[in-house]
Amino acid sequence: MFNKILIANRGEIAVRIIRACKELGIRSVAVYSEADRDAMHTRLADESICIGPAPSPLSYLNIPAIMAAAEVTDSEAIHPGYGFLAENAEFAEIVIESGYTWIGPTPESMRIMGDKVKAKAKMETAGVPLVPGSDGAVGSVDEAKKVAKSTGFPLIIKAASGGGGRGMQIVHSEPALPNAFNKCQSEAAACFGDNTVFIEKFLEEPRHVEVQVLGDTHGNLIHLYERECSMQRNNQKVLEEAPSPSLDEETRQAICAAGLAAAKAVDYVGAGTIEFLVNPDNSFYFMEMNTRIQVEHPVTEWITGVDLIEWQIRVAAGEKLAFTQKQIKIKGHAIECRINAEHPFKFTPSPGTVELYHAPGGRSVRVDSAIYTGYKIPPHYDSMIGKIITHARDRQKCIRRMQRAIDELAIIGVTTNIELHQRLLANPGFQSGKFNIHFLERWLAQMRV
Ligand code: ADP
Repeated sequence: MFNKILIANRGEIAVRIIRACKELGIRSVAVYSEADRDAMHTRLADESICIGPAPSPLSYLNIPAIMAAAEVTDSEAIHPGYGFLAENAEFAEIVIESGYTWIGPTPESMRIMGDKVKAKAKMETAGVPLVPGSDGAVGSVDEAKKVAKSTGFPLIIKAASGGGGRGMQIVHSEPALPNAFNKCQSEAAACFGDNTVFIEKFLEEPRHVEVQVLGDTHGNLIHLYERECSMQRNNQKVLEEAPSPSLDEETRQAICAAGLAAAKAVDYVGAGTIEFLVNPDNSFYFMEMNTRIQVEHPVTEWITGVDLIEWQIRVAAGEKLAFTQKQIKIKGHAIECRINAEHPFKFTPSPGTVELYHAPGGRSVRVDSAIYTGYKIPPHYDSMIGKIITHARDRQKCIRRMQRAIDELAIIGVTTNIELHQRLLANPGFQSGKFNIHFLERWLAQMRV
């Protein structure tokens, strides 16, 4: 096992990884920007080292500075968390070539899954269901028109290297196709340095369901069931749960098997997630794979009893998974609410000083956060400041537990989205468990906010 791990991240996920290190008896090294001198991760790690000014390109995305920090602290391995450099195959390669262990999958599987066109081709050979669309990249408007004949409208044009919900154009009719195609191509070139685009049929009322997988370096690969992540705004998840309230047992088995097949196709090692779109008739299609730990991993940890960060570290150190697929069983229900420092209905960010923070407690409530009373939330980073997770034997009880936990949560000094969660948890549409990816935005539009 490692003696020392460097965590190339900040915020709640850095704190989460530091906690796992402590429980494993591993020393942790935090890297921080000048804006994060008093951040929780900087304070909690065994050692902390400043890697640059506040803007992330100069600090949390600054590969030479991070590698220098690993060197001077004698770290043996690097955990990238999520966001920042977590899905950067080049960074993973530099880490490995410099003699450190990368806590994540191989750069090769990251590369395949990071390119949507390559990923789809790989998935096709693995027999994973794909959204009908172009056979690979589409190079011209004429070609796009031909593809549209088979997919029909609406369709979606996507950048092969796109991410974070950017680089996509939805097209409702043929006259709009040429403009949308050219726009997508030039945006893709400008944002991602790669103008490769492809086309898919646009699914109109899908749900977002994703499958967690975990693999070791000895050829063992298992799934840890699914998460329901349809509660989104602007392609950003707001509340997640496990298991999905919308899947029947047959679809659950099928989607988890497809997730496993997807991961096997790239010899996946570590923790990863395969995202699917699920139609109202329960047909489902591969969307993409995230080759890293995800924000919403705690709901899976709670229903399966597996500590995903601990196992990311263990498999990176060469250990075998200590459990088989058969031993992974769903126990109860878990929900996560993301707490953001932003207006609950206008979604404008609200950095500033946390005058008072009181976290909820009691039975089956988990809080993963990086704030404390007196903490100054910097304006430079994501607005998510923490997550509340609850567990109970069934979904209804889990919702009630989350409602009382959210009511106990007090954050004074900055505006947060607590009220959004209170109203959402009380909403009959949410409570029914029958909602798709448009639910939240339609509900917000109805409230005219
Ligand atoms: P990114 O890598 O930017 O997250 P994804 O391919 O995961 O891009 O797609 C982001 C979101 O766009 C999905 O969560 C879904 O809401 C929507 N989307 C993507 N492809 C389709 C499709 N074929 N039909 C309907 N919605 C889609």
